[in-house]
Amino acid sequence: MKRVLITGAAGFLGSHLCDRFINEGFYVIGMDNLITGDLKNIAHLFKNEYFEFYHHDVTKFVHVPGNLNYILHFASPASPIDYLKIPIQTLKVGSLGTHNLLGLAKAKNARILIASTSEVYGDPLIHPQTEDYYGNVNTIGPRGVYDEAKRFQESLTMAYHNFHGLETRIVRIFNTYGPRMRLNDGRVIPAFMGQALRGEDLTIFGDGNQTRSFCYVDDQIEGIFRLLMSDYHLPVNIGNPDEITINDFAKEIIQLTGTNQKIVYKPLPENDPLQRQPDTSLAKKLLNWEAKTDRKTGLQKTFDYFKTLSAEELQKEEH
Ligand code: NAD
Ligand code: UDP
Repeated sequence: MKRVLITGAAGFLGSHLCDRFINEGFYVIGMDNLITGDLKNIAHLFKNEYFEFYHHDVTKFVHVPGNLNYILHFASPASPIDYLKIPIQTLKVGSLGTHNLLGLAKAKNARILIASTSEVYGDPLIHPQTEDYYGNVNTIGPRGVYDEAKRFQESLTMAYHNFHGLETRIVRIFNTYGPRMRLNDGRVIPAFMGQALRGEDLTIFGDGNQTRSFCYVDDQIEGIFRLLMSDYHLPVNIGNPDEITINDFAKEIIQLTGTNQKIVYKPLPENDPLQRQPDTSLAKKLLNWEAKTDRKTGLQKTFDYFKTLSAEELQKEEH
């Protein structure tokens, strides 16, 4: 049986990866320190004999007994309000955490896939973003703690590949959404859906003309799985190229939720990228992958999930 270690396992993407690898017949070791994750995302796996969980901070030495075939490093705060609240932990998990996992991969002779992000492109000056674009990041801006941790993570991963011959994969993930996102994590989809469910106004930051391109989680997991199994070690964008302004997106949410919310405008956070759209031709060529779920279908599934949350969970304040 192949054995895979997934860090960030109690988080949004990590928990979906655990499910996918269990379904593919792997022995899955999940690891998380629960700083932004929640055990309820993987509670259904605890009775599975092919799953085990380590409560561990990956910025500390990582020890896993036995052999490992694959490592997927997904531990990191991912939403702007999280990484602004815990900036040093964010820098540490991208740097020290990545170093520990690359070291573990080398010791176990395992293939490792690192979760990078469209944020390595910063506020992009080319559009859509292709993998050969170097990016436009403000190192000392508030988002720098996340963006630069991820840029360093990519450099360190390439160094292990080039210097030690380690088998590495780098996925640049563009905005992904779906069930198990934290309702209060501040990202736009849970924010708008939570506001709709609580009967509050939808808050648009800035003038709402900034764009994003939202990828449904099942498509993202499929892309990551295919990349891990491929023989390509350079970064690959995985995302849905269907771009929309936040203004139009808010209107879609109002329509979908059948609510009659007003829209209110708040200041745009510093360095918030004005546009973002993945060029996914490389993923299509290499992995024969492209996003298949349209926004209407994906948002409906996500809203159905949020509707199952208890009144108490719904009322939790953003931290
Ligand atoms: P998430 O916050 O739901 O999950 C991250 C998980 O990592 C959490 O369970 C958290 O407790 C854990 N974690 C954080 N620091 C840790 C540490 N030091 N040790 C052990 N565990 C730690 O976020 P997510 O959306 O699932 O993102 C997962 C990964 O994907 C992150 O690396 C993120 O940068 C990347 N990513 C996500 C998106 C997206 O749209 N969701 C986009 C780009 C990149
Ligand atoms: N946003 C918004 N209202 C909110 C939360 C976010 O208008 O309540 C905006 C945010 O400023 C950004 C976009 O929505 O322009 C996507 O934000 P998110 O935090 O989801 O992702 P990221 O900025 O990391 O792409």
